[in-house]
Amino acid sequence: MITTKEYDVVVCGGGASGVCAAIAAAREGAKTLLIERVGTLGGQISFSGPPGFAFAHLFNPSGEQDAAGLIEEMHSRLLKEGHALPHIKPEERLAAGYTFSYIDPEWFNFLLFEMIEESGAELLLHSLVVDVAKEGNVVKGVIVENTNGRMLIPAKMVIECTGEGDIATRAGAPFEMVDRDTIQPHTVSFTVDGVDWKKLLKYVNENPDQFSYFEYTLPHWSEEKVQETKEKVQDFLRNATDITQIGELMGFYKFRDEALKNGEWHDYSGVGFFLTPKEGGVVQAHFQHSSQWPNALPTDAWDLTRTEIECRKQNKMAFKFVKKYLPGFENAYITKMCPEVRIREGRRIMGDYKLTREDVKAGRKFDDVIGKSHFKAGAHHVCNTTTLETVAKVCPENGGSYDIPYRCLVPQNVENMLVAGKMVSTDRDSYLRYVQQNMVTGQAAGIAAYLCVRDHITPRELEKNVKELQDKLEKQGAILYGTH
Ligand SMILES: Cc1cc2nc3c(=O)[nH]c(=O)nc-3n(C[C@H](O)[C@H](O)[C@H](O)COP(=O)(O)OP(=O)(O)OC[C@H]3O[C@@H](n4cnc5c(N)ncnc54)[C@H](O)[C@@H]3O)c2cc1C
Repeated sequence: MITTKEYDVVVCGGGASGVCAAIAAAREGAKTLLIERVGTLGGQISFSGPPGFAFAHLFNPSGEQDAAGLIEEMHSRLLKEGHALPHIKPEERLAAGYTFSYIDPEWFNFLLFEMIEESGAELLLHSLVVDVAKEGNVVKGVIVENTNGRMLIPAKMVIECTGEGDIATRAGAPFEMVDRDTIQPHTVSFTVDGVDWKKLLKYVNENPDQFSYFEYTLPHWSEEKVQETKEKVQDFLRNATDITQIGELMGFYKFRDEALKNGEWHDYSGVGFFLTPKEGGVVQAHFQHSSQWPNALPTDAWDLTRTEIECRKQNKMAFKFVKKYLPGFENAYITKMCPEVRIREGRRIMGDYKLTREDVKAGRKFDDVIGKSHFKAGAHHVCNTTTLETVAKVCPENGGSYDIPYRCLVPQNVENMLVAGKMVSTDRDSYLRYVQQNMVTGQAAGIAAYLCVRDHITPRELEKNVKELQDKLEKQGAILYGTH
């Protein structure tokens, strides 16, 4: 086995969370290495292009921004260069904290490479982390397989950002994951261009009742408020003059039902898409739940293989439907099929605190806050034409945000390891799987790892005093206080 030089901080996985972790650690001065399985950065955002509403949910229902730091920095850099849309927060959407801050995923990808280089972090691409090196329960580095062979990369601190928790699990951290019968369906996304948006917009203006409005409401609202919002949303759709004001469209009920009868739509999901901004005002449509495959565990490659096969069949049918039925899509064509299934639900690595549905509902504050979110708990995808199960949703009832505690990033049973991204320690309902949440936990893990290396302490020991971590996060632009 080849042994490389030692790093202060090794980050496993170059998705949104891993890139933020590496930049944050390197900016503080840690000798940092980011290891990624494929040849590019950005994870799901780059492969899939992008998660429909990346970035989204940066403002809570009270209109306060609650996620910033590296996300805001990246968004504003892309906006200046013409590769993002400004924060979109019309009144009827803001009331549910359902705001959009679209970025062009290809330019996001360029930016990540630039920012990694600027930060001084090193990159090792085309390298699969397969295990950790350990002494007792103390992680001492990672084992990597790549074209060079098998490598030991010694590290003082390891941050696991692979999305699925493979590395933390191999290091001995406990995890929770629902069973095959319960797990949410996964999706292969695709993007299309060639849409006549004026024609589509005319259809939307004339048929606002054909679209879903549930995402614009909050679960604890009264019937009257829900009804009032439904009317506002319909007015908004009736009067929209630019497709980018709308952001996402779910529904097309009449077309869907007709196609279902004709065998031209499958019943694994509903119809809808999000927008992807490109240069010069061009907009593409991104379909990220037109295929859904249930009962597949991300910890079973046979299940993943079946999902890839079935989702492609569904996507082919979905695209034919789109071209035939949706006004404006007659000349549409596919520009990108995601090269791998996107996992909607997987392992949650159990840490020193488990964020709960009750914490979300109460908008709970924690002394060891490292970031915030207002994203609802309990919104699960279901494998039928409803797509999203809204019955069990809860959100902070005061219209504010909840804190994400540092302890959710510190896995049990293992020392010198942190986790960030969607696998951090939560119960099922409060799963922090959205991009803005992943970037918040990534940035915090990076600075925490630096502090542990500098002070020769473990991430668990850092729990005793997180003041400097919080100060540094705020200096890097993160929002920890001052919101509901
Ligand atoms: C269908 C779908 C739609 C979604 N839509 C949205 C949305 O609209 N808005 C939103 O905010 N979120 C959305 N999400 C969630 C969001 O996309 C993800 O949770 C987020 O991208 C995860 O970011 P991450 O950096 O933690 O992980 P990932 O993006 O999964 O990145 C993990 C990285 O680690 C690498 N890796 C994995 N294993 C290894 C290894 N062993 N060694 C080295 N590298 C490894 C991978 O190649 C990848 O680059 C959606 C998710 C799905 C499935």
